[in-house]
Amino acid sequence: MASEIPLREKRIADVFDELRRAEAKHPGWPSDPFVALAIVGEEFGEAQQAALDYAYHGGARAAYYGELVQLAAMALRILFNTSKEPTDAQ
Ligand SMILES: [Mg+2]
Repeated sequence: MASEIPLREKRIADVFDELRRAEAKHPGWPSDPFVALAIVGEEFGEAQQAALDYAYHGGARAAYYGELVQLAAMALRILFNTSKEPTDAQ
């Protein structure tokens, strides 16, 4: 019997695949935190649009899922590129 990858692990793998794809396509990451957050915000907006399309306009669930994966990947990217340790923030 073939082993199944649990859904949670599959989704995490999808996010890391997207993270690697994005880092290869756009290796640079802005040092300005507001510019970096704007990238995350752009992905959030795209996920919102895909959710609207999926929920109300017959859009594809796969497109919505894809946007969620991109949003999660960019959330990881801004986290990984944050220069200061959390304890520095006061
Ligand atoms: Mg997107």
